[in-house]
Amino acid sequence: MRTIGLLGGMSWESSIEYERLINEGVRARLGGTASADLLIRSYNFAEIEELQAAGGWDEAGARLAADARRLQDAGAELMVLCTNTMHVIAPAIEAAITIPFLHLADATAAAVVTAEVGTVGLLGTRYTMELDFYRERLRHRGLEVMVPDEPGRATVHDIIYDELVRGIVTGESKRRYLDVIAQLVERGAAGIIAGCTEIELLISPDDLDVAYFPTTRLHAEAAVTAALD
Ligand code: GLU
Repeated sequence: MRTIGLLGGMSWESSIEYERLINEGVRARLGGTASADLLIRSYNFAEIEELQAAGGWDEAGARLAADARRLQDAGAELMVLCTNTMHVIAPAIEAAITIPFLHLADATAAAVVTAEVGTVGLLGTRYTMELDFYRERLRHRGLEVMVPDEPGRATVHDIIYDELVRGIVTGESKRRYLDVIAQLVERGAAGIIAGCTEIELLISPDDLDVAYFPTTRLHAEAAVTAALD
């Protein structure tokens, strides 16, 4: 079994889900008392959020790249960045390491393609919904990607930062997310990507009538496969 390096804490509310899902996946495959071989770097998210808000992507990239290198030097054999948003700086991490980097958008796109869904609605932080780094990677896989309108994007983004990364999950926010999702479905989305690792804490597949692509779960499954195959 390969050792997985996790760059997490962005936020830890979802990183603990990564850890749980990867361990469950390894146990399901190997049985007995088997569990995942992990090296985890978990950040103080307040510092990361500050860099995001200030557009300090280069500084954030340098920090994460240096830590990815440290995890590799410590024995990591593949790298998982436990947040959609910070894949903005994925190229900096990839340049700093020689082990495989499991890009979250690739794991997501593979699941959407397998499900034969052509048009997907993408929910995430403003960075993920509005910058090109994530949508373009999905489009390169032949997918049509739509994002909520401006009020919808504000709702989705604010609930992530004001509630989900702080461990706050409410019925009211779930209702507001479902309204945004309903608008995307009305516009033609045949599936919804939970393109922020905390959204799965709020919305489950049972809440939707269309295909649901929860990125934490999909990324964790890709990590288990890469660690064991
Ligand atoms: N975990 C979130 C994501 O997947 C948002 C927090 C962050 O900005 O890293 O994008």
